[in-house]
Amino acid sequence: MDLSKQNENDGDITDKGEMLSIANQENDFDFADVKGQEELIEAIVLGAAGGHNILMLGEPGCGKTMIAQRIPTILPRMSEKESLEVTKIQSISGHLEAGTGLVTCRPFRSPHHNVSLNALIGGGSYAQPGEVSLAHNGVLFLDELAEFSKRTLDALRQPMEDKRVTISRVNGTNSYPANFMFVAAMNPCPCGYYPSKRCKCTDYEIIHYRGKISGPILERIDIQKSVAQVDYFELNNKKDGVSSAVLRERVERARKIQQERFKDAEGISCNAQMTTSMIQKYCKLDEECTEILKKASEKYGYSARVIHKLLRLARTAADLDGAENIRREDVIKVLSCRDLDVSSSQMYAIT
Ligand SMILES: [Zn+2]
Repeated sequence: MDLSKQNENDGDITDKGEMLSIANQENDFDFADVKGQEELIEAIVLGAAGGHNILMLGEPGCGKTMIAQRIPTILPRMSEKESLEVTKIQSISGHLEAGTGLVTCRPFRSPHHNVSLNALIGGGSYAQPGEVSLAHNGVLFLDELAEFSKRTLDALRQPMEDKRVTISRVNGTNSYPANFMFVAAMNPCPCGYYPSKRCKCTDYEIIHYRGKISGPILERIDIQKSVAQVDYFELNNKKDGVSSAVLRERVERARKIQQERFKDAEGISCNAQMTTSMIQKYCKLDEECTEILKKASEKYGYSARVIHKLLRLARTAADLDGAENIRREDVIKVLSCRDLDVSSSQMYAIT
């Protein structure tokens, strides 16, 4: 991906005058290019609309990276304040090309699983921003999540919690923002092909493999969605997907509702951040919805934590439609966003 590529500006922040050349890196990517992944894209829209983190599961080469790269194109357009923050971080870290003005596109960062802690979190002799800060206001994408060491994943915990990192060095302390949407991808099993016949892994191997990402990281992921296997020839006949511009409009509308909802709540800007008392206030379910959720949680052994995630997601699903209350279809929709839980629970059942 050529992040330095400049295209014409989108007219968003042009009132500052001619001095600003606007870098618009997004024009290269559009969800219209993604065919045959309607269900996954709907889950991604849900994630983007409510600030929910996402894990994609799928075999090698199924398009996980291609999809992840397009997520910044459906997040709400950056405010001027957000643009300035991103520009500043890129400038400090030497990522800003000479002549580039204000960055208006949300960043997408995809560090390799061998990334050093300094490069990921920030550090070095000049206490430079790391990937978590370069992804500020954008997307941090970890591909092959199970290949990241436990130490690396543990290091992400604090920035994900505080949305900020503080780096201490002999010369002083630097603090950088690190508020990003976390998107990860992994194979469903060590060979990558579960649940197809090609998979030769045992349940034990699969459970062990998935266990690598359990704990602090998995706890922070609301949506776990399988990437559909699409037949190449069938794909050729499919029409283009929905464009990023259309999806972004839906996301922005849902965000507006949340801004209004949380206008008096300090530090809370989207549904994913709702506290337990907010869930009680904003995620009331009628009898039918409660029954559906209860049945699913009994079937898959969902903890209170997972039920809270599902309720936050259901709130976002309702917001996407401008619905005041969470409806049956919202609950059903979000129950389809826990593919890893569902698939693992089937495994536990037969081991
Ligand atoms: Zn396998």
